[in-house]
Amino acid sequence: MAKIIDGKAIAEEIRAEFVEEVKKIQSEKGITPGLAVILVGQDPASKTYVRNKERACQNVGIYSEVHRLPEETSQDEVLGLIRKLNQDPKIHGILVQLPLPDHIDETACINAIVPEKDVDGFHPINVGKLMIGEKCFVPCTPAGVIELLDRVGVELKGKEACVVGRSNIVGKPVSLLLLQRHATVTICHSRTRNLGEVTRRADVLVVAVGKPEMIKGDMVKEGAVVIDVGVNAVDGKLVGDVEFATAFERASAITPVPGGVGPMTITMLLKNTIQAAWQV
Ligand code: NDP
Repeated sequence: MAKIIDGKAIAEEIRAEFVEEVKKIQSEKGITPGLAVILVGQDPASKTYVRNKERACQNVGIYSEVHRLPEETSQDEVLGLIRKLNQDPKIHGILVQLPLPDHIDETACINAIVPEKDVDGFHPINVGKLMIGEKCFVPCTPAGVIELLDRVGVELKGKEACVVGRSNIVGKPVSLLLLQRHATVTICHSRTRNLGEVTRRADVLVVAVGKPEMIKGDMVKEGAVVIDVGVNAVDGKLVGDVEFATAFERASAITPVPGGVGPMTITMLLKNTIQAAWQV
């Protein structure tokens, strides 16, 4: 039976540390870290995420402003706002909540943010720096996965790590971070043959697929650490990409959904915003 990795408790512990760090920046640099979030349209999930980000900032003393723009806002207007925020000394981090309405080019918006304020870590400059191992803004969910592993004391050096999923926001960056920590990393995706054979070799299994309970217990190595990034709504309940009940029997440690990786994502956004303020 596995130890349950309590992401909520770990996130709270880290956020308490941030309260002190924000005070330290205020006294040493005379500035308050500031985050600007741009939300275009009425997507209900996006509205909830943005509200949670705003609240999380307030709780640790980070200044935050949310620009809620109507669905019909033009791309030029969004780009104009980003350019204004790039110049705003109160703002150290800028985040464009995705997805954007179809008539707005997400890449153009991400690329318009100056890399020094790109706290989501999606700008090509930050992506490239992550690839070559330079200091950069690391995307929040992958950073949260590594932070969780660190906080529960999982040694990664020399371990077999398997990442299921190769998206630009989770799978690929988390694979690079595991590689930086000297794990031997295998990346799986929709064309991987005999998925279970590959996942069963993993000492550390990270799953970011978006398919409810796709990874069953018999695909998990006895004693593995399982990090389930997936969030899927099924019959009004949230479930992960891992079948918790069966994986729990085989793993040595596992994240629950909800309450595992989720709370770490916003925590890492706060971390990146504080890092951006230190770098001014
Ligand atoms: P994407 O849809 O962008 O990527 C999914 C990946 O899974 C793709 O690489 C795809 O492969 C792979 N995949 C799909 N089906 C299979 C399969 N049958 N076998 C193996 N691999 C497969 O998703 P994201 O990375 O954005 O998100 C993944 C999950 O994580 C979602 O549930 C999402 O909600 C959740 N998430 C949670 C966050 C949090 O804060 N907790 C933050 C971000 C995401 P291919 O490339 O070949 O198509």
